[in-house]
Amino acid sequence: MSARIAILGGGESGIGSAKLASQKGFDVWVSDSGIIRDDRKATLGALNVAFEEGGHSEGKILSAKEVIKSPGIPDNAPLIIKLREAGIPVISEIEFAGRYTNVPKICVTGSNGKTTTTTLIHHILTRAGMNAAMCGNVGQSFAGMVAEGGHDIYVLELSSFQLDGMYDFKAEVAVLLNITPDHLDRYNYSLEEYANSKFRIIQNQTAEDHFIFYTDDPIVSKGLTTRNSQAQHYPISLSHSIDELGGQGAGIENETIQINTKNQPFTMKIQELALQGRHNLVNSMAAGVSARLFELRKELVRESLIDFDNIEHRLEFVTKVHGITFINDSKATNVNSTWYALESVDKPIIWIAGGVDKGNNYSELYELVKNRVKAIICLGKDNDKIKAAFADKVDTLVEVESAEDAVRIAYDLGYKGDVVLLSPACASFDLFENYEDRGHQFKQAVRRL
Ligand code: ADP
Repeated sequence: MSARIAILGGGESGIGSAKLASQKGFDVWVSDSGIIRDDRKATLGALNVAFEEGGHSEGKILSAKEVIKSPGIPDNAPLIIKLREAGIPVISEIEFAGRYTNVPKICVTGSNGKTTTTTLIHHILTRAGMNAAMCGNVGQSFAGMVAEGGHDIYVLELSSFQLDGMYDFKAEVAVLLNITPDHLDRYNYSLEEYANSKFRIIQNQTAEDHFIFYTDDPIVSKGLTTRNSQAQHYPISLSHSIDELGGQGAGIENETIQINTKNQPFTMKIQELALQGRHNLVNSMAAGVSARLFELRKELVRESLIDFDNIEHRLEFVTKVHGITFINDSKATNVNSTWYALESVDKPIIWIAGGVDKGNNYSELYELVKNRVKAIICLGKDNDKIKAAFADKVDTLVEVESAEDAVRIAYDLGYKGDVVLLSPACASFDLFENYEDRGHQFKQAVRRL
C-alpha cells in the first residue's frame, strides 16, 4: 500500500490537501476533532478518502509517514507533541502543495493588510490576462488549486500559522507588510517568536528571488539585519523617496508613489489610487512592485490600481445618511488596524469599538482618539478595558450589545459631516459569529435608518 498521509482538520486546507494527496497516489486519512461539514464529507466520499470526526484515533495518526496539520491546531496540542516525539514530520498544507508545482508563487504575509494586498495583486495579474490563482489564507486552499492545475501563477496569502509548518517551501516573490502584536497567545506571548514565524516567508529564497518589505516598520527592518536574506530586496517606504531607498523598491515624493524594479521606473499620483488611507499606500505599493517584477505593462498596473474595488469589511464606505458617513471596518480586529482606520478619517468620528480583547494595549490610540473621536460606542459583552482606557478621553461613551443599537445611537449622536466608524480593534465572537457577520449586521442596521 502507498504511504499514509494523515491530515488533521477537515476544513478548507484539509480537504484541499486530501484532494492533492489522493491525486498523487497517497493513502490518505483525514481526522477532525470536531464535526466536518456535510459538503466536505461528500467531497471526501467522492475521493474515496477515509475520515473520522469528533476525535482523533491516535494509533492511526501515529503510523503516518507524514502529517498535514490545519493552521487552526496549535503546536502545543498534545497530539502534535506526540507526533514530534515520534519523529513524524508535521507540515502545513502550503508546504505539502508547494512540492507539486513549478509555477511562480507570490506570497504575502504581515499582521495586517494581507487580504487586501493579495486581492489587489490578483486583480492586476488577472487584468493582465494571466490565469492567476488566489489562495492560502484567503479563498480556496493552495493544495486544492494545485490539484486543479492549469494556473500561470499563484498569489498566496500566508498567516503565521501556515508559515510555521513550512520548511522547504520557497516563495519566488515574498511580501512582508508589517509585524505588530497579534495572536501572541500562540507564540508564548513573545513578539520575537511571532516575528520569527513571519520571517519564514524568506526562508530558502535565493539570489534569483525577490523580497518586498515595508522598511518603515521597525520590527521588519530590525529583524532583517539579523537574518540571512539572499533575495533581491525591494524596500517600501512612506517616508523616503526611491533615491533615498537606494533606487529600488517603492518610495514617495511630492504626493507621488515611485516604483522601481529592474531599472524601470513607474510613478503614480497618490490621489489616483483606488485604496485610500496610509496603510493602503503600503498595500498598493507592494502590489505595484510585485506586478512590475513580472514586467506587466505600466499602463495596466496603473489602471488596475485605479479601478480596484475595495473589499468588504476593510474601511468599506457603506453610505451617507443625512450627511453622516458610515464606514465598515469590521475586519479591524487588532489595535494597529484600528490605528490606521482612525488615522485615515479627518472628520469628527463616532467610533464603534470592542468585542473580544486579544490582550490589547490601547495606549497607541490615545492621541488619535483625543483629537478625532467625539463619542465611543462600546459594542461588546465586557467593555471594562475600553472604558478604563478611554473614559477620560471622550465626552460620550455608551455601551450596547447589538449592531442595531450601536448604529441607532451613533446616528442620534451624529451631525452632518461626522463619520460613524465601526473599527472594533477586537475579535467578534462575543456577540457575532465572526467579523463578517458583525460587518453585515452593521450595514443592515445602517440601511434601515
Ligand atoms: P489581513 O488579511 O492581514 O487581516 P486585511 O487586508 O483583511 O488584512 O485588513 C485587515 C484590517 O487591517 C482592516 O481593518 C484594514 O483596514 C487594515 N489594514 C489593511 N492594510 C493594512 C496595513 N498595511 N497596515 C495596517 N492595517 C492595515
